[in-house]
Amino acid sequence: MPTNVDVLVSEVGPRDGLQSIKSIMPLAAKKEWISAEASAGVREIEVGSFVSPKLLPQLADTAEVVAHALSISGLTVAVLVPNLKGAQAAVEAGAHKITLPFSASDTHLLKNVRRTPEQMLEETRAIVALLRSLPADRRPKFEVGISTAFGCSYEGIVPEDKVVRLAETAIEAGCDEVGLSDSTGYANPAQVKSLVKRVRDTVGDSAFAGLHLHNTRGLGLANVLAGLELGVKTFDSSLAGLGGCPWAPGASGNIVTEDLVFMLEAMGVHTGIDLNRLLSVRKILAASLPQESLYGFVPEAGLPLGFSPA
Ligand code: ZN
Repeated sequence: MPTNVDVLVSEVGPRDGLQSIKSIMPLAAKKEWISAEASAGVREIEVGSFVSPKLLPQLADTAEVVAHALSISGLTVAVLVPNLKGAQAAVEAGAHKITLPFSASDTHLLKNVRRTPEQMLEETRAIVALLRSLPADRRPKFEVGISTAFGCSYEGIVPEDKVVRLAETAIEAGCDEVGLSDSTGYANPAQVKSLVKRVRDTVGDSAFAGLHLHNTRGLGLANVLAGLELGVKTFDSSLAGLGGCPWAPGASGNIVTEDLVFMLEAMGVHTGIDLNRLLSVRKILAASLPQESLYGFVPEAGLPLGFSPA
């Protein structure tokens, strides 16, 4: 967490956004996007995923994207890894942070990474062993991101107890922190409060990574507010709300970074991000992904007259 911000906005568009659209963004545009967001004050970006290029050709150049992002000073470079092989590639590339998506729904887990919960726990332990074998200065931070934590498009309700147990198991297995992901856009604010509270009470404040929310049913920012009221300090979002989850039918779009930053700054919560500069980054997406829809209310309506950031 950078010292001069109240809340860390973690941009996930170059991974979550790009993995779920058909167009492939050219490497040069990815680099331009990441540099421009960092210049606008974004301090953490999930820049790609070390997954088979056959599965996700959109992210085949992740190693090159990581190399570029590492050249930007002060930026935390995060990547998603589906397994040990991905973690090895992430370590080799020099990523600062890796996130392993571990679905609380067994069906979603099987469809997403083709693992049973037992196999995924083995994978988690293998990654921990790999990281512990590294010198401290080359060891990325390891988050287990509990996906479908608020509901699953295959199984429906995901019991809170199961999510809490998984969080506990992941920490016991040796990961640094756990986050909660509403991959399917099922969450509501009451549920966010209840689950965040239980998971934090179980793993401890310092091991709770934050919230990854989607806006599929329009409750994304309401869910952010619920998290804020509990003191959650990190929220994932995607510039222009790009993307969603290809394995969750009907789910489209992370919460929109521009709208999230607007809400926080308007409420007096420091993000360290210059909203006008952030809004101009959309031009890079519009130019390099002409077939894709860009979302967001603030970019459409503009900033209110007299708006002053926190
Ligand atoms: Zn997501």
